[in-house]
Amino acid sequence: MAAVIDNATHPAFEKLRSHRIDTLNLDVEEYRHKKTGARHLHLAADNDENVFFVALRTFPMDSTGVAHVLEHTALCGSERYPVRDPFFMMIRRSLNTFMNAFTSSDWTAYPFASMNRKDFDNLLSVYMDSVFFSKLDPLDFAQEGHRLEFEKPDDPSTDLVYRGVVYNEMKGAMSAPTSQLWQNLSSHLFPTTTYHYNSGGEPDHIVDLSYDDLIRFYRHHYHPSNAIFATYGNIPAHEHHERFEELALKRFDKLDIELPVRDEKRMYAPVRVEQGYGVSEGEDTDNKTHIVVGWLLGHSFDLQENLEGQLLSAVLLENSAPH
Ligand SMILES: [Zn+2]
Repeated sequence: MAAVIDNATHPAFEKLRSHRIDTLNLDVEEYRHKKTGARHLHLAADNDENVFFVALRTFPMDSTGVAHVLEHTALCGSERYPVRDPFFMMIRRSLNTFMNAFTSSDWTAYPFASMNRKDFDNLLSVYMDSVFFSKLDPLDFAQEGHRLEFEKPDDPSTDLVYRGVVYNEMKGAMSAPTSQLWQNLSSHLFPTTTYHYNSGGEPDHIVDLSYDDLIRFYRHHYHPSNAIFATYGNIPAHEHHERFEELALKRFDKLDIELPVRDEKRMYAPVRVEQGYGVSEGEDTDNKTHIVVGWLLGHSFDLQENLEGQLLSAVLLENSAPH
């Protein structure tokens, strides 16, 4: 059966362009929410596995992990779902084929997929509410970010220690020498932009993050004017628009958001840096020196240059033949 082309447009949105990709058997449609400027990319395909994500541009200018702690805390309850952990409840109960949330160096995204329409609608409601009307309770911040606790919680004679989901997660992640290497390389290649910092959070800096910092970051970044929605599947775009509008967008006006997006400073000569990394006691350090060489290339949105860079690195490094 041929897919029915549904060209209706919701009045709150305008269509910017559409483009057929035959090899993928889908149509890319791009929309803009008139009032807030929110973008929506819809990949219309004859597939009943429908996918949704909402992404926000997040540009932390320190290593407190504010974007990462926010990603965790946003999922701990919202205006319409003021329960503990609606996200984890839905992971267990829903028919989803994918549910997650990601913090990257300059964006945070909340994706899910489902093959059941009712389930898709439920998840959409939970996701939109978590992102745009999150409760951000101070106790959830303490749970997900950081808090001081007695080493044995019921024994006040034991030492005070830092705990927190993100704090512990990053302590584990940053204990690997290769993670420290990557972070150090980035901090020198990018002296002035958001990529200088560890968006996941450095454990020593996570403890400096305050609840007020979290709220400020949320207000500034989690707004439709700073959001991109993307969907894939056989639900027509205008049905998504109807839901986006009802669930969140109608309650917002345009916000002029100024994010520190600028080109990185260029170097005029090679920079050489030596740095140490932690080892466990008694660990043998012979032959454990890492040497990395990095170059700052062009813009990440130059797809041609990006592909060439990936190809060159694959040719040079990603095979076991001696060279
Ligand atoms: Zn995490």
